[in-house]
Amino acid sequence: MRTILLIEDETAIADAAGYALETEGFRVLRTALGQEGLALLQSDPTIALVVLDIGLPDGNGFDVCRAIRRFSELPVLFLTARSDEVDRIVGLELGADDYVTKPFSPRELAARVKAILRRVQPAAEESASNGFELDEGRARVRWCSQWLALTRYEYLILKVLISQPERIFSRAQIMDQVWQEPEASLERAVDTHIKSLRQKLRAVTPEYDPITTHRGFGYSLAVRPRAP
Ligand code: CA
Repeated sequence: MRTILLIEDETAIADAAGYALETEGFRVLRTALGQEGLALLQSDPTIALVVLDIGLPDGNGFDVCRAIRRFSELPVLFLTARSDEVDRIVGLELGADDYVTKPFSPRELAARVKAILRRVQPAAEESASNGFELDEGRARVRWCSQWLALTRYEYLILKVLISQPERIFSRAQIMDQVWQEPEASLERAVDTHIKSLRQKLRAVTPEYDPITTHRGFGYSLAVRPRAP
């Protein structure tokens, strides 16, 4: 399930938009404050798109969008009440993906969100739902919008974990899928690669480790972030 972050201070609008998005199967995180929205973005790698109001109690959506762009390329859809704001959205090259003018139909908003997500992650929708995107053609993985610099073994191990989130893979099962001659390698090699993989993921999200160690069994990948 993909998560939409909704930053909107008008309760009636947030209620209607949130309901329409949930009806389409999205998980919706809501906040009325830009700063809180930025904090949520940094702590929840499942967020796939931001719906951002321009007039917020603690500042404006333009500044929030700029702040988002410093660490993320997630799509941003602006909610705007005035036509001069539309000119700024279009003219400032803020990296916004679309906008909806108030008053808007919640169903139209949900349709726009779906259209943007289809456009930005056509092949990776499934794996992006837990913050990971797998690009098998180029043997690379994106975690929370950032491409990871992985060794061949780290890439192959992560690919196994991504293939079935929440499933616990034993070291032997990982080795069977990753190593061409598993019997020639030590199971400890899996631990070593997992350790360096974790360091690379932590460099992107210091507060969140999506890999779970199951003592005596093996490893699994979380579908959703654990509570901080
Ligand atoms: Ca507002």
